[in-house]
Amino acid sequence: MTSDSSLKLDVRDVHKRFGNLEVLKGISLTASSGDVISMIGSSGSGKSTFLRCINLLEIPTSGELYLSGEQVQFTAASGSSERKPKDSKQVTRLRAKLSMVFQSFNLWSHMTVMENICAAPVHVLGLSKKEARTRAEHYLQQVGIWERRDYYPNHMSGGQQQRAAIARALAMEPEVMLFDEPTSALDPELVGEVLKVMRNLAEEGRTMIVVTHEMAFAKDVSNKVLFLHEGLIEEEGHPSKVLVNPDSERVKGFLSRTY
Ligand code: ADP
Ligand code: MG
Repeated sequence: MTSDSSLKLDVRDVHKRFGNLEVLKGISLTASSGDVISMIGSSGSGKSTFLRCINLLEIPTSGELYLSGEQVQFTAASGSSERKPKDSKQVTRLRAKLSMVFQSFNLWSHMTVMENICAAPVHVLGLSKKEARTRAEHYLQQVGIWERRDYYPNHMSGGQQQRAAIARALAMEPEVMLFDEPTSALDPELVGEVLKVMRNLAEEGRTMIVVTHEMAFAKDVSNKVLFLHEGLIEEEGHPSKVLVNPDSERVKGFLSRTY
């Protein structure tokens, strides 16, 4: 895997169990540099859990993860059949390479936009405040809210808050961006401004995995689509196949209800 530096993620046969509930039943995925992968599927099919496993916010019960060329090391957790990361420093290092954007923005309400964006580059990457600020200004310009840099999140629209959250993710200069339904919490008239920013990131060649219900985005922007059903990949492939003429009856049914 390390011989192919364009391979950003290699996830093999990931299972995740919460107690007796097996939420992921063996999911594999590779993402190479510049891939934009859309993940679709009904609510409860395991999309968020899968993203959280990639980001090590959840620890997969079994399966292998290679993130940015490094294999994640696990060890048995004492007193249970679960695993835990062997090395918390490795988790911190890898997580910094995989920025996540959440449905509910998750900005800190007591910090301005600028403070939100600078926090992790200073505390996790060790940038000086000045370096972090310069970096933040660059990404705030890219997402089009530079003039809101000293606002508190509650004083901005949902679309602006989500663009701030995207700028915060970009400021970590991650290898892969993970998006979990980034437009689902927005009023319909604000969805477009966030999708526009995401299209721009895809055009720049960023590697992205996007859980979304925005079928036009998935179709136009991604080069691969995965359809999850009950913790398994039901169908995957190019959007011109999976979203237009899928083999699976389940995917056909889903699309007829969504479009
Ligand atoms: P999706 O994002 O596709 O809607 P999720 O990954 O959020 O699906 O959830 C998949 C299933 O896992 C659901 O049945 C959900 O209730 C369950 N689940 C998710 N997180 C937890 C958790 N921390 N503990 C127990 N069950 C969970
Ligand atoms: Mg979800």
